[in-house]
Amino acid sequence: MIVGQKEKGIFINGEWRDSYSGTVRAIINPATLEKLTEISYGGKEEALEAVEEAKAAFPSWSKKTARERSTFLYKAYEKMLENKEQLAQILTSEQGKPLTEARTEIESAASYLLWYAEEANRVYGEIIPSSKVNRRSLVIPQAIGVIAAITPWNFPASMVTRKLGPSLAAGCTVVLKPASQTPLTAMAIVKIFEEVGLPKGVLNLVSGDAKGVGEALTQSPDVRLITFTGSTEVGRELMKNSAQHIKKLSLELGGHAPILVMDDANLENAVDLTLASKFRNCGQTCICANRVYVHREIADSFVEKLAVKVKSMKIGNGIDEATVIGPMIDRNAVEKAAEHVEDAVHQGATIITGGKEWQGNLGGHFYEPTILVDVNDQMKVMNEETFGPVLPIETFDSIEEVIEKANQLPYGLAAYIMTESTNRVFQLSEALEYGIIGVNDVFPATAEAPFGGIKESGFGKEGGKEGIMEFVEMKYVSIGMT
Ligand code: ADP
Repeated sequence: MIVGQKEKGIFINGEWRDSYSGTVRAIINPATLEKLTEISYGGKEEALEAVEEAKAAFPSWSKKTARERSTFLYKAYEKMLENKEQLAQILTSEQGKPLTEARTEIESAASYLLWYAEEANRVYGEIIPSSKVNRRSLVIPQAIGVIAAITPWNFPASMVTRKLGPSLAAGCTVVLKPASQTPLTAMAIVKIFEEVGLPKGVLNLVSGDAKGVGEALTQSPDVRLITFTGSTEVGRELMKNSAQHIKKLSLELGGHAPILVMDDANLENAVDLTLASKFRNCGQTCICANRVYVHREIADSFVEKLAVKVKSMKIGNGIDEATVIGPMIDRNAVEKAAEHVEDAVHQGATIITGGKEWQGNLGGHFYEPTILVDVNDQMKVMNEETFGPVLPIETFDSIEEVIEKANQLPYGLAAYIMTESTNRVFQLSEALEYGIIGVNDVFPATAEAPFGGIKESGFGKEGGKEGIMEFVEMKYVSIGMT
């Protein structure tokens, strides 16, 4: 990235391009509102062309051996780690998260390439014992075809590799559309694949107008699957628009994660984990805690300990090593956090700390880390995804009550339990209607495990052996014998 220079944000069939219309989009540092660069910004036409090229590249890519495909992923993994610092700097500049978090994200992003470089070789078929003497039944795994990957701005690196790793490993070819706010990290990752010699057309990137690109990708019959991470609202639209061609989907949508702090929890640990879950990436994480239910017996000391730590968190530019709370992505994000706090206070909530925009002198989009108590289930913050550094804390008395409260929203992505009791681990893990349960753990996302939601948080898994199977069709071959 060269600050101030215009860059090409479209990569089709091995070439970096401008958009046909000449449209560009400014990429802004959310901490300072400084313009980092301008990138070429495409739409429907570019997306359709990218699909054509991905389609043309599919036969030869899918016919390569798994080992051959794996080699490209392994090389890209190594290169990502070699360039970790530079990638982290790009990520923080356009997204805002503290540099330490950006470095961790780059490592995590690279780990998906490594894991799927390995998994590429383990996509097995089956021979089924036949019910007829003169028949043989086979199941052969085959890459699904051209896939579209649409990624969000909150994890500009790991959401990209979590989709590229398994799809490329399976033998699919890809059209990637990164979030409009954070294309530079995606561009840098695509450049790595270019440098390791990935064949032309296998991976295409279209930075551009979400609606136009989205329309092209859903309407094209050649796109066989869309893997999307983002809001439930957009997920719903993609699902509707994919109905025409019965397109397969993998959707990682919004969440509203509860943390259940049981009366036998290790309190210090529960406080630290709640803090880490809520305030990582300034609360802009789909699996981060959106509400805490703490047992009445321990609620006062929990809130007291939490408040001390939250008050000492350093707010600032993510590029400054001491920063713990960076900026929010844009003005809308700040306004949503403020709206949730105002609504809660209006309905009787008490602000323990924070509760307003941060008045630093950086010029960017900041909101103070906030703790609310005296909250109730009618408040917006307890129902809608806040995606900001606001933590509402409610008390509970019985396990039945807290299970009901935790399950009452339409979301089902991640839920957390703080307890030292094995019985409760099983009782709660089985009762909670969520795709991911963290027990004394708030960082469950990892390359080797299946990540994904249920209910209105979506379907499909990313990570684990399940992640690659999203991109594979199991073809049944029935062979009659004479
Ligand atoms: P967020 O609230 O995190 O920005 P979005 O769901 O709006 O979540 O965005 C996630 C990704 O989906 C981004 O890459 C965005 O550009 C893209 N997107 C938004 N609207 C559409 C749409 N109508 N069709 C396809 N992609 C879209």
